[in-house]
Amino acid sequence: MQHGTAATLRIDLGALVANYALIARQVAPAAVAGVVKADAYGLGAAEVSQALLAAGCRHFFVAHLCEATALKPHLPADIPLYILNGLPPGAQAACAALGAVPVLNSLVQIDDWAAAARSRGRALPAVIQVDTGMSRLGLTPDELAILRDQPHRLDGIALQLIMTHLACADEPDDAFNREQRDRFDAIASQFPGVPRSIDNSGGAMATGVRHGDVVRAGIALYGGAPHGGPDPHPNPMQAVIALDAYILQLRTVPAGAGVGYGLTHRCDRPSHIATLSVGYADGWPRHLSSRGSAYIGGVRAPIVGRVSMDSMAIDVTDVPDHLLHPGASVELIGPHQTIDAVAAQADTISYEILTRLGHRYARSYLPAPAAAADQRSGKP
Ligand SMILES: *Cc1c(COP(=O)(O)O)cnc(C)c1O
Repeated sequence: MQHGTAATLRIDLGALVANYALIARQVAPAAVAGVVKADAYGLGAAEVSQALLAAGCRHFFVAHLCEATALKPHLPADIPLYILNGLPPGAQAACAALGAVPVLNSLVQIDDWAAAARSRGRALPAVIQVDTGMSRLGLTPDELAILRDQPHRLDGIALQLIMTHLACADEPDDAFNREQRDRFDAIASQFPGVPRSIDNSGGAMATGVRHGDVVRAGIALYGGAPHGGPDPHPNPMQAVIALDAYILQLRTVPAGAGVGYGLTHRCDRPSHIATLSVGYADGWPRHLSSRGSAYIGGVRAPIVGRVSMDSMAIDVTDVPDHLLHPGASVELIGPHQTIDAVAAQADTISYEILTRLGHRYARSYLPAPAAAADQRSGKP
């Protein structure tokens, strides 16, 4: 137990690297880019990027310029760091100075970036994203038609990738995946010789498709199931995180006692209740009030009553006494409860569970094997 923290979060960089290797084998000869936006889905963008770099990853994506600014010093200068959400108005100078690669999502962004290149007298790298049906980000068919007629608008831009994003990649059997891939193939032929990027984790782990040149993997690197949907497929990825809360206090209450705010839980028998050190301020979903679980020594202990800001109660009546004492650790995410299981109970997705992981945790990183060897030999 780490005194004074809400929980212990262990991040297994060896599992991360194993997941990277699995995706790389699946999509070869395409390269796997690490999507490390939102602080690598809450796991730590600097630490995750270092481990991925050591494993051979050569492309990184964040969502915002501010994320690129924070991460860039941790990457070798020649490793491209792409900004998915595009080039905000007025951000050209900062983006160019940083050496980040914007994903250009509109003609206006293309014009702004080309102007920035001309005013600097040198080519600036960029990615172009095209909207093939998700209606989120990227050039529209009309904008692509204009660009086809006026190719000089790209003068000064060194195109690194042409990319799109699939709306239904987590359900590989969805027919719309095929449709978007076909549309993308037609559009990409407008940009001969430019490497292509289509797939996120779900697309990358789909079989029987061409993966282009670079896949953009996020959730699968971090152990989330790449494919969900109504008929979930077994998750081939290794779990990367484990989260353990602590018992703050134990009490025995009579049948009929109420638990927590609003007394929404009533004990139907004399019960042992443990108050845990994690609440919704730590990203643990309040939606798990009276429906989620924790595990002690592998025994399930249901969450009872409302999840509070800094604590929650579990019913430990069925847990052996010797496992119950203040400071005892309690599994919230681990071998008995995956991030996908927590997400399903909370009516959300593993992405949201990860990106909301709290800031009051004691975090520890298990190094990947090669990195461990480097540490032993004293290399940086
Ligand atoms: C977040 C994101 C990804 C990564 O998606 P995962 O499903 O986590 O693999 C890839 N591409 C784009 C455009 C994204 O926004």
